[in-house]
Amino acid sequence: MNFPADLFAGLRFAVVGLGKNGLPVARRLVAMGAMVTVWDDNKTARAAAIGLDVRMPMMAGLDALILSPGIPHYLPRAHPIAAAAIAAGVPILSDVELLYRAVRRAGSKARFVGITGTNGKSTTTALLAHIVAGAGRPVAAGGNLGIAALDLPLLGDDGIYMIEMSSYMLERLATLRFTAAVMLNLSPDHLDRHGDMAGYARAKRAIFDRQADGDLAVVGIEDEMSRAMAAELGAVTIAGQALADVWADGTMLQDKAGIIVDLATAHALPGAHNAQNAAAAAAVARHLGISRADIAAGIITYPGLPHRQEHVGTIAGVRFINDSKATNADSTARAMVCYDRFVLIAGGQSKEGGIEPLTHYFPRIALALLIGRDAPILAATFAEHGVPYRDVGTLAAATEQAWQAARDGAAPVVLLSPACASWDQFTGFDQRGDMFRDQVKAIALREAA
Ligand code: ADP
Repeated sequence: MNFPADLFAGLRFAVVGLGKNGLPVARRLVAMGAMVTVWDDNKTARAAAIGLDVRMPMMAGLDALILSPGIPHYLPRAHPIAAAAIAAGVPILSDVELLYRAVRRAGSKARFVGITGTNGKSTTTALLAHIVAGAGRPVAAGGNLGIAALDLPLLGDDGIYMIEMSSYMLERLATLRFTAAVMLNLSPDHLDRHGDMAGYARAKRAIFDRQADGDLAVVGIEDEMSRAMAAELGAVTIAGQALADVWADGTMLQDKAGIIVDLATAHALPGAHNAQNAAAAAAVARHLGISRADIAAGIITYPGLPHRQEHVGTIAGVRFINDSKATNADSTARAMVCYDRFVLIAGGQSKEGGIEPLTHYFPRIALALLIGRDAPILAATFAEHGVPYRDVGTLAAATEQAWQAARDGAAPVVLLSPACASWDQFTGFDQRGDMFRDQVKAIALREAA
């Protein structure tokens, strides 16, 4: 189903920030009949807005300002256009809010599920969409992950929107009510935008705003701030260990009615962190009326997302794992715990604290191959702890040398889990992971020849 072409007729919006979210949002709003002006401080971005009304937006008569998630309206400093909107009383909205309004205006009662947390949002959103689609329900997934919310199709009354919500998007809602909402976990992140942990937690908590009787609130209880939030809300709790309403005991995912599924059979969901994601997905799916058998089947057949411990090939018994999404030590730890012995590829732009938090896992590293700008920082930590390493500069060199070392018996796994941002050598973690995958394929072809 398509949204009617006159759905937003008579409404005026400004879209500021013309990145991979802003541009499609502006075009969709035009296609729904709204009057739209667009702006980006960057000239190149403005030039890409072909066919749109590009100019500095005036606040008079504006129904809403849609600000790209990357542009602050508060901390560290409100963007001047955002400040003007606030002064003029023009609401600053996320495109998810506009999707909600569009769906309701089109007369559909489709339900909205929101997922947030510091880590695991994309995985839980994609897993839930997979479970729900497998159970034969119409579903559309997007938001912070993948497709911009407003680019999602119009679903009928039985449809379900699975929306990954960042803390930035949560600050820009007005009427959207989530039938089921999940807050997975909280650890320090984006504090420049939220002031402090309390501000960050407050932003995340907004996912439960406007929920009414019969709606579901799900909260992870594996960190203290989330536990406090769960208690305050009287939420359904989830955990990768006992004590919650849905939890994993070892690999057994269960609730009070019994075992749901053995996560050891869910190959794309390794590790305790994924047990938390699976528990959240199960709690929501249950609420949506999906049978336990369909929940179990969805978890087992979930294919996984690229760049998150993605298995990209096996050559002569050596498994290659692309965990390029791991841009900090905490994420890399989640991967390291899953493999007893591996050749590690790491490096790039190091985060504060470097790889110090990973020392517990150092005995598992047969060899570390370091790349990128901050290789020397990682090298110093490895040297101090007696971990064998080489600074090889590029990902291409690292992949080749990792394969040779693994082939010669160093370890059965090659793990790309950089614990660093990628910007020094790549356009993003996805390009880094794509190049790794391509090179593993090339090595496989060469070795088979
Ligand atoms: P997000 O969308 O929130 O960034 P992803 O699902 O893309 O999360 O996962 C990103 C990384 O975060 C994963 O590769 C993994 O290392 C880690 N992670 C995933 N789920 C969790 C979780 N529930 N708790 C802690 N860390 C997690």
